Amino acid sequence: MLKGKTALVTGSTSGIGLGIARALAKEGANIVVNGFGEDRVIAGVEKELQALGVRTLYHGADMGKPAEIEDLIRTAERTFGRVDVLVNNAGIQFVANIEEFPVERWDAIIAINLSSAFHTIRLALPKMKQANWGRIINIASVHGLVASAQKSAYVAAKHGIVGLTKAVALETATTGVTCNAICPGWVLTPLVQKQIDDRAAREKIPSDAAKRALLGEKQPSLEFVTPEQLGALAAFLCSPAANQIRGAAWNVDGGWYAQ
Ligand code: NAD
Repeated sequence: MLKGKTALVTGSTSGIGLGIARALAKEGANIVVNGFGEDRVIAGVEKELQALGVRTLYHGADMGKPAEIEDLIRTAERTFGRVDVLVNNAGIQFVANIEEFPVERWDAIIAINLSSAFHTIRLALPKMKQANWGRIINIASVHGLVASAQKSAYVAAKHGIVGLTKAVALETATTGVTCNAICPGWVLTPLVQKQIDDRAAREKIPSDAAKRALLGEKQPSLEFVTPEQLGALAAFLCSPAANQIRGAAWNVDGGWYAQ
């Protein structure tokens, strides 16, 4: 379905981004890999994707830095012609009450989880419009739709990216470019494992009990969403069946948002 097209997935060295990169590579898209990690791990990711018969390019842009984001997009365009599928996924978390929230953590979360998507979209969209085809998929969160305590910066950034998704969907509505958000509930990735470890330490409980408590509080299915499920949804959003899905904030959350 995506043969000959190029997908840039920010934060694709781990977790959800890696799951989405795999799914898009299986559809034939060349992949621009981005994110942090040991050289050995990144080389392994590229090798695995190449084994699916696609080309890859790694660019280590820090998504908190606009100049590096510009270099990422320009390098992708120089290598592959254009970015056809843009998945804004890179993200970080920090948990604290607002009075204690470190100012530099707030700034970093807004820069990486929200402003980075403004930059990638503004830079990649002209070539998508020229080709009259493109897919912009923003990985928001169920925290783009509802809040949780101690996550002010994350919730603000994720609500922001849902709003950005809608504005871009309207600006591209008469073109072949669509823009949508995916809003996952709990997915067991390093980002969430840290919250499980912190909880286990704080409450002096085993890791499995901390996992059950985390799910029990918010996610009625009591099961984690998987990167594979999110990859399949991203691939669907790239299909012709999704041509008129525009500005959606699609929750994949085991029932979290239904409560
Ligand atoms: P993760 O920690 O496994 O992966 C994050 C990725 O982003 C990694 O590749 C990391 O290297 C990269 N990254 C972090 N900071 C970066 C920076 N400054 N520049 C470039 N890359 C950077 O986390 P994840 O759980 O896979 O999260 C991916 C996205 O999904 C995030 O936007 C997160 O908010 C969102 N999300 C996660 C969950 C969940 O339960 N895990 C739920 C909803 C939404």
